[in-house]
Amino acid sequence: MSNGWVLPDEVLRDAPAYTPRPGELADLELLLTGAYAPLTGFLTRADLVSVSRRGRLVDGTPWPVAVTLQVPAALLRDIDPADPDRRTLVLTDGEGAPVAALEVTDAWQVREGVAGVGGSVRRLGDGGHGPFQRLRRTPEEIRALLPPGRVLGVIADRPLHRPQLAQIAHAVRTLSAHLLVMIPVGEDGTGGLPPEALVRCVFAARDRMPPATVVAVPLARRRDEIGDALLRARVSAAYGVTHLLSTSDMLSGGGLRVLVPRELAYDNRDGQWRWREDIPPRNRRLALTHDEIEDLLDRGFPLPEWHTPPAVAKELSRARPPRRHRGLVVFLTGLSGSGKSTIARGLADALREQGERTITLLDGDVVRRELTAGLGFSKADRDTNVRRIGWVAAELARHRGIGICCPIAPYAQARATAREMAVSAGAGFVLVHVATPLEVCERRDRKGLYARARAGLLTGMTGIDDPYEEPTDADLVVDTSDLDVDEAVQQVLIHLTETGWIEPRLQSF
Ligand code: ADP
Repeated sequence: MSNGWVLPDEVLRDAPAYTPRPGELADLELLLTGAYAPLTGFLTRADLVSVSRRGRLVDGTPWPVAVTLQVPAALLRDIDPADPDRRTLVLTDGEGAPVAALEVTDAWQVREGVAGVGGSVRRLGDGGHGPFQRLRRTPEEIRALLPPGRVLGVIADRPLHRPQLAQIAHAVRTLSAHLLVMIPVGEDGTGGLPPEALVRCVFAARDRMPPATVVAVPLARRRDEIGDALLRARVSAAYGVTHLLSTSDMLSGGGLRVLVPRELAYDNRDGQWRWREDIPPRNRRLALTHDEIEDLLDRGFPLPEWHTPPAVAKELSRARPPRRHRGLVVFLTGLSGSGKSTIARGLADALREQGERTITLLDGDVVRRELTAGLGFSKADRDTNVRRIGWVAAELARHRGIGICCPIAPYAQARATAREMAVSAGAGFVLVHVATPLEVCERRDRKGLYARARAGLLTGMTGIDDPYEEPTDADLVVDTSDLDVDEAVQQVLIHLTETGWIEPRLQSF
């Protein structure tokens, strides 16, 4: 898709390029397709102030949320908002391919080293790529496909089970509307499923729906529920929706009618879903909650047919296999000498003996030689070290293997990033805090590091003159002070078995 806007080659050639963060890229896509109409770009300061004060742009148009872009301040050295020839910023996707040109008409400092930029965006190149690209049609294209009359919009941010399908069918009948299903694909791992898996799950329910138009929309969630709901209504309206069926606990707003469906339950007298109050309590089964569904999938139990069409259940169990078959990152954190490597090695051996999944041990020292050579022990370097380890481990786990990592990982933020990467790869993440106290680690002093640190020959030693942020989100805490190695490994194995990540073993060799 090209909008005929051509930038002079020399302007483009000299323009700095930047890859926005995933949420900003999702916003960019919505700006470019017209789903955020009448917005044509990232908001300027004046619009931001106006939106936060009165929910309107400066020109008076109602607009619910801040649509912003932040860039490293250094990038603005070559940008002059006052000079049309020197204010273009090329925005690229995650792989570095140009997506859009931003004409920066406003730039300001957000915090040290980070600037906000506002201005209109135009598409460069011929649109994106990626799975199910053909479903990412623009609002204009979709509106042209819709029949005249009412359009019921459904934002399918979760797979559709029988209760939701019954609600949709009911609403379509009542309104005599055409159905438009919008699948949000703007972020990884929405509701625990990668976007492609969500699309497959929704399609698996298609023959249980009234005739529908389906579109994938790069909507990402903000941390603002009300803003999100208003924005979703806004985007739905841009796609031609006249009535929006509220899924989950979405709020209303944005000018179109929002239907909040009544709760349905399964009537076991005739196998129909109907209003909960119309069924005698002993004949009614309530819809499964999201947690109950995840729990069944995690444990490898089939989703019951009264609740989920078999084709949807099949897609879901493919996308979210039982924990014992899913990829897993076991992340051991703790002070030097606390026992991370020793436990990790024992754990890797035990799991290899069981032979269920492939095991990769990303040991601290080996990793520093092979993967992160050259990094030191500053905060930034430690964070990079943990990030790289977390990235590799998440990739192993994406392919359903087990990655065991044991960096000191003293900073909570870096550990959280490692967790996020694993989860958005569809894998599990188990944080084991090896909480052996400093005195014990120092007494062991396996590598002589503590003695050197105490003698002032080594600086930046975690626990001595460098911080260790105790995890508050550990899945398991092991203190090896009074354990032998086998017992410590056993504790981890027991935890993994109890939580379903590995099969219980009855026999041993
Ligand atoms: P880290 O990887 O955390 O720096 P290491 O595993 O290299 O720590 O060293 C831990 C030291 O503690 C080893 O010498 C190990 O033999 C000893 N140790 C004693 N008891 C245990 C235990 N229960 N678990 C793990 N290590 C233990």
